[in-house]
Amino acid sequence: MSTLGIQDLSVEGKRVFVRVDFNVPVDERNEITDDTRIRAALPTIEYLMGQGAKVILASHFGRPKGKDERYRMDVVARRLSDLLHRQVIKADDCVGDEPKRLIEKMKPGEALLLENVRFHPEEEKNDPGFARQLAELADVYVNDAFGAAHRAHASTAGMAGLLPSAAGFLMQKEVSALGKVLSNPDKPFMAIIGGAKVSDKIQLLENFLSRVNTLAIGGGMANTFFKAQGFEVGKSLVEENHLDFARRLIDAASRQGVRLLLPGEVVVADRMAADASTRVVSPREVPEGWMILDIGPKAVDQFAQAVRESRTVFWNGPMGVFEIPAFAAGTEGMARAVASAPGTTVVGGGDSVAAIEKFGLAGHITHISTGGGASLEFLEGKELPGVAALAAK
Ligand code: ADP
Ligand code: MG
Repeated sequence: MSTLGIQDLSVEGKRVFVRVDFNVPVDERNEITDDTRIRAALPTIEYLMGQGAKVILASHFGRPKGKDERYRMDVVARRLSDLLHRQVIKADDCVGDEPKRLIEKMKPGEALLLENVRFHPEEEKNDPGFARQLAELADVYVNDAFGAAHRAHASTAGMAGLLPSAAGFLMQKEVSALGKVLSNPDKPFMAIIGGAKVSDKIQLLENFLSRVNTLAIGGGMANTFFKAQGFEVGKSLVEENHLDFARRLIDAASRQGVRLLLPGEVVVADRMAADASTRVVSPREVPEGWMILDIGPKAVDQFAQAVRESRTVFWNGPMGVFEIPAFAAGTEGMARAVASAPGTTVVGGGDSVAAIEKFGLAGHITHISTGGGASLEFLEGKELPGVAALAAK
């Protein structure tokens, strides 16, 4: 099984269809609030433009049900033009005569953005006829949309079988960085898993258990592990139906010689609010009716010590309700510890990446995955359709 990269193809003068992930967040005035995803695709786009390809970009944007003016991608085309310092042509559809005519008129080295592929319901159905219509626009297919690679859609998977195909630079970088975490991380290898719920992370925990030397669990999901050990955790978020899973994981870790770290100190509050009363206590001493909303300073030290001893650290999931300043210190402390780790550091997951960026530490992390759901599925050990489709030939 081998996958070509764009650097392996000759693209000069060719029409190159590039599936990117331009699904950026916008505010109520339809202004882009974070253009990380657009920036992440620039290396591929600039390379192809420099090689003299006609660069045809396509993405989904939001969750429109059919054609919907609010999800037109003009705002994305404008931002991309700014970032490239070159005018990007914008098509009003992603298939048919209009984009064909525009592509016909393009000069080598120019870029064009097709309209939202989700304006056609056939996209998400991976409809073969629709994939063919998309493929008709180009000579070569490139997938750089790692963030959409967990979806088997026409533009993320179906098209790959119809044209010579290759992975863009972002796709290559994500697959190699996350692949290394899974298959040959430098040891000792530590994973820090947090976030709200155990149920979101069961497969991740199971897949990591046999690979890590140290597993640190924080965030809301630690509560279920506290409860599983018989601690009273008041009104904390607990998933009663996963207490057994938590017990099994604790046992499996000890059988397999994995050091399992649970926070030895937590921040509790009488309610989830910015002006709540708070205390720092042992997880064995949560006052009745109070709730755990962050890990305490001693837990940050405990996890940070293990980070310093590791050569690979993977982090997913905030340590507390970091959206509220009173419960953000654990996540910030963890972010700082990971940012100053001596070895390779990889951070994945929408909220964890947002936290790293919020604290201005992105530049100190070896690899920040742009993937969100795709990163998690990859790390759960699942085959991503978008990645598999590139390797199939
Ligand atoms: P990611 O997007 O990085 O994978 P998750 O989506 O799993 O992370 O979890 C993020 C959410 O977890 C945040 O909204 C945060 O407020 C919440 N969270 C963290 N700790 C707690 C806690 N102790 N109680 C309730 N919610 C929590
Ligand atoms: Mg999340």
